[in-house]
Amino acid sequence: MLLPRLPDPVPPAQHEIAASYIGRLARLHGLDINTLWRCVTEREASGGMRRAVLPERLAAITGRTVHALAGALPELRTPQPDWAMFRHQPQPGCHHCNAKHPGGEVTRILPHHRYVCTRHRLWLCPSDADGHTTPLDALPEIVQAQRRHLRILQRHGWAITYDAVLTAIFICGQLWSLPENENGEAWHDWIRRANILIPPGTAEATFSVSRLCAAVYPEAVALAPLFASPHWRQQAQRTAWDRHLFNAEIARRLRHPRYGQHENDPISHWANMTAKRPPLAPIRVHDQKHHLRKPAPRTATQRTQQRHAHAFNPSHRAGDALTAHRHLATVFRRAWHPFRTHTLLRNGDSYYTLS
Ligand SMILES: [Zn+2]
Repeated sequence: MLLPRLPDPVPPAQHEIAASYIGRLARLHGLDINTLWRCVTEREASGGMRRAVLPERLAAITGRTVHALAGALPELRTPQPDWAMFRHQPQPGCHHCNAKHPGGEVTRILPHHRYVCTRHRLWLCPSDADGHTTPLDALPEIVQAQRRHLRILQRHGWAITYDAVLTAIFICGQLWSLPENENGEAWHDWIRRANILIPPGTAEATFSVSRLCAAVYPEAVALAPLFASPHWRQQAQRTAWDRHLFNAEIARRLRHPRYGQHENDPISHWANMTAKRPPLAPIRVHDQKHHLRKPAPRTATQRTQQRHAHAFNPSHRAGDALTAHRHLATVFRRAWHPFRTHTLLRNGDSYYTLS
């Protein structure tokens, strides 16, 4: 069945998934969503039950060119985009940006490097942020960090940047769980930001791992260029003197003058074990055979989140919830290979041992 061109159709939002755009078109024009969906899709050539969007049909009913539609809707691109560049789960993105797109909920598939809407100063990552809107007006350094993150992307490309930033977030989470005397000024900043994003006494309502991720994001983006750069990666593995220079740079970026006095912290572990390895690819990649759909919130995830909220104390092992979060699953597996046990002594010192 063919439909005539719709009067005054709205444009798609950037990175919107096709089902979301088609749903908005149907609601705006009072059409049945399933009817419209059947009009602009056809059964896949493989003979399965799934239907693929036909860009030409969507172009015919919207009066927009295939080129313009594909510019906003990644699923319509030919050839298909490198799906590893995008998060495997769609999410709403910034609700202020969505407000200018009529027709109901907008669902997008954002690239890995999109953590903040810099225009509206809103935290967008990880995708479980959906339940919590996190404004960053009181924390301009997090918005600034997104701009620095994009500069790393321009310099090193998405794959190296993805690995470096995720590794850096993971390491900041590990450092956050060490005692105060093992960390520099950054540790105090994480507590300060956590107290703004999750005000004391409100954790049951305001806690989310996504907000812990926001708290460490500026330092993670400050460390990431060292993990991305071939120069610093070599520096981390070479002679004791080179390692001294690498440690001095880490100390400067974490504002931790005593960093590097001993070799039993997560960054040294990275330098010893990981610096020589190629960047990791995401373990979860959107499968283009399946149409993208907005995921329903999982009860197991919500229960874990509530458990962390109950025990949340920004000054005591606060990074544990962050390092265990599925957003960091790609780097989690590597970070503990070979597995190391963290031991905390009564006097406040701690060390890692191979187990
Ligand atoms: Zn926005």
